[in-house]
Amino acid sequence: MDLSLSQPSSPRVSEPREDEHVVKAAKSLRRHIGHEETSNEDTPSRQWSPGAIFWVESAPPSSGGAKCRLPCPEKIMPGEYRIAVIPGQHSYYGRDSTDYYHISCFETIADFSQLAFVDRVQPVTRDTWQVRNLKATSILDGNFLMDAGAERLLLEWKKTVISLIGHRDARAGTPETLEPDSFDDLLANAGSSKFVPRAIADLSDFDYDIFRTTLAPFESDGPDDNDEWNLFEQYLAVRDGQEGALDYRHSLSETLNAWKRDIRRTFCHQGNAEDGDGIAELGPKAIRAVTRLAVTPRPDIQGAFGRGR
Ligand SMILES: [Zn+2]
Repeated sequence: MDLSLSQPSSPRVSEPREDEHVVKAAKSLRRHIGHEETSNEDTPSRQWSPGAIFWVESAPPSSGGAKCRLPCPEKIMPGEYRIAVIPGQHSYYGRDSTDYYHISCFETIADFSQLAFVDRVQPVTRDTWQVRNLKATSILDGNFLMDAGAERLLLEWKKTVISLIGHRDARAGTPETLEPDSFDDLLANAGSSKFVPRAIADLSDFDYDIFRTTLAPFESDGPDDNDEWNLFEQYLAVRDGQEGALDYRHSLSETLNAWKRDIRRTFCHQGNAEDGDGIAELGPKAIRAVTRLAVTPRPDIQGAFGRGR
């Protein structure tokens, strides 16, 4: 088990910052992604990056932690979820910087009620680490990669926020909704006793198995279970159709902090540490679910070397 997972990540409540600084940093981020017209007196010091991605990742081991790009007294500690903006807003000796942020700090400057911001959010996982420009040696022991629960929560948060934006912006009627297909069914219902596995074109056996088991959002006690545990119901701080949800800036950090808190409770409890407070609230089914979803799925290295797929 990765012990860094069980270290307390200080729950970061949004603290009032210097308004002026936040306004400036938010404007600078908007310009960086090409989302704001500039006036004549605005002379960009460097090229903008309309293709910048907001990676969400697990901070790797480091002695002192990473510095948050906002004037923030706390370092981003190993095992915490963080944002890495790539390319960042500066370059050093011709190389683009990577800008790191606490997620709750980033939420004060990124306007996630706009598609231009939400669309850029991506989890660092077994499928995306190469695009994030990481070396295989950096990620094979699970560093940087999000655990299964955080990956599912992040993508569900993104899908929900995009849907809320769609409804807000579809002033003349409801936005087009697509019929859920077998893959949507797998994403939404795996783990439930009611889930019926169906073949999915273009999905490797490796990926199918991971989605059906490790990444499954449901935990069930079997066909008679009328109260199956669901990851999204437990932790997602935003709901489709929820009034005013887009005005709340901290739904992503709140979701991931709540998830991390229960990982910590579960593993501290299993290690008999005193820190297992609140474990009684979880119950055996939730503990089973959290233990399963706290795993970090690794890349299909064998598949990459030619095992039949
Ligand atoms: Zn910060």
